[in-house]
Amino acid sequence: MTQFLFAPKKAAPEADAKSAAEPAVHTASQDEGWPVLIVDDDAEVHAVTRLALRKVSYKNRRLQLLSAYSAAEAEAILRQRHDIAVILLDVVMETEDAGLRLTQKIREEMGIKATRIILRTGQPGQAPEERVIVDYDINDYKAKTELTTQKLFTTLIAALRSYRDIITIEANRAGLEKIIRASDQLMEMVSMTEFADGALLQVCSLLEQKPEGVICLQKADGGPPTIIAGAGRFSALARSTLDALEDPHVQDAIRTAFERRENVYLDNATTLYLRAEDGNEVAALALQRSPLRQDDRRLLELFASKISASFTNVLLYEKLLAANEQLTLANEDLERRVVERTAELQKANEQLMEMASTDCLTKICNRRRLFELGLQELGRSQRSGVPFSLILFDLDRFKSINDTYGHDAGDEILRQAALRAASCLRLYDTLARHGGEEFAVLLPETQCQDASSVAERIRSHFACLPVLYGKTEIPFTASFGIATHQPGESFDDVLKRADAALYGAKEQGRNRVQTVCSGTR
Ligand code: GH3
Ligand code: MG
Ligand code: MG
Repeated sequence: MTQFLFAPKKAAPEADAKSAAEPAVHTASQDEGWPVLIVDDDAEVHAVTRLALRKVSYKNRRLQLLSAYSAAEAEAILRQRHDIAVILLDVVMETEDAGLRLTQKIREEMGIKATRIILRTGQPGQAPEERVIVDYDINDYKAKTELTTQKLFTTLIAALRSYRDIITIEANRAGLEKIIRASDQLMEMVSMTEFADGALLQVCSLLEQKPEGVICLQKADGGPPTIIAGAGRFSALARSTLDALEDPHVQDAIRTAFERRENVYLDNATTLYLRAEDGNEVAALALQRSPLRQDDRRLLELFASKISASFTNVLLYEKLLAANEQLTLANEDLERRVVERTAELQKANEQLMEMASTDCLTKICNRRRLFELGLQELGRSQRSGVPFSLILFDLDRFKSINDTYGHDAGDEILRQAALRAASCLRLYDTLARHGGEEFAVLLPETQCQDASSVAERIRSHFACLPVLYGKTEIPFTASFGIATHQPGESFDDVLKRADAALYGAKEQGRNRVQTVCSGTR
């Protein structure tokens, strides 16, 4: 039998109405039931509504009925809490259109969109249904006289269902927004550690948990999985192997994710599995207080699929960096080796040059170097017009010294002869071994007489002092021939003339200086 809830209006005294109702502002938590706000200035309407709805439950949640006796009171409640699912709203209260004005305030001023508003009016003439539905953002319009218990129930459940849908859609939207923001941030992270730290934080934030988890990497080229990032109680474990995880459930969850290549959902932990294109794999485990809702799982799976591309990028970038580093190292090594080799070659060249210019027994210039310097000197002398002189000297009867004292003693005399001759010269004179026991002295800018004095100084230096070889004193002498460059002569010409003079000195009895200052070509 149809049971009408509201008889035609007969106002009850206000004081009675309030005392019959629950306290106006109810602060119970949402878990206690769907918050439904009854707004009506008629206390009886409150009482009847409560009676009619007392056993209603939807999706395993009962109702949490709140009462307001005027639009102003309702506004005060709504300013305190935005979680009201449905408002059963009277139209005529303080004013003829108090309910309609409140609707406008709720939607436009307070910005509350999800709450469903069911208008219940006792005087439909005051607020015609058509105009109200079009002009005001309400979800249903009922005349109190037509409301039976059943109708109220149906209307309320429909409103709760659409409220729940709106809330779910809103939560999904907020979740997706988070994912997009999170994966955009991750795109910018270039090192694997940075990326892993970031991904871990994002997973925990999607689960609305404080950061508590690990990220492990299983390289495609084998080896045990390693922890690449840790947060909360796991933060000290980066770069360790899985064995470092003390909790066996955590270890198992990660191993299972790698083995099965899928996400692992436990009551208190979620492990996301990611696989990069090149075969590298990542397992991200985050702890949570309670099992994940289906919605959260979907969000996480979406997040995992979005970041697996960034993960591949980060790995590629790391490979590129490593290859670059190796290339730089190889280049540096090559450069270092080139520098070393160049220095070695330069040293070898210098040694070669020295060997090519030096006599190895006496360490003075050799014949090749004498000719080089001789030619230089010839040019210089031709430009300046100041002649150079050349002394040739040859040790006397050296063969018999060798024969008497031995070849080593002969060598020592050659060395001492070089030292003594050098000690008689100026810095810019050149002493050279011309061959065997024959020496030459090139004297730049030196006239014949001066060269003769130099030769005489050397001769007497030799003759005056025997060479001490071991305990043996070995006397020795030398014969000297001198030639001074004359205009038009080649270096060879000068050398030949000096040789001729030397020959003359030998012929005249040795241990003497013979000069050819001019003529005799
Ligand atoms: P002279 O007074 O006419 O020059 O007589 P000499 O014996 O010095 O001349 P000779 O050309 O007959 O002999 C030169 C000797 O010098 C022969 C050679 O063995 C020796 N001799 C040449 N080079 C070296 C050397 O590097 N070391 C030694 N110990 N002897 C050398
Ligand atoms: Mg000789
Ligand atoms: Mg000789």
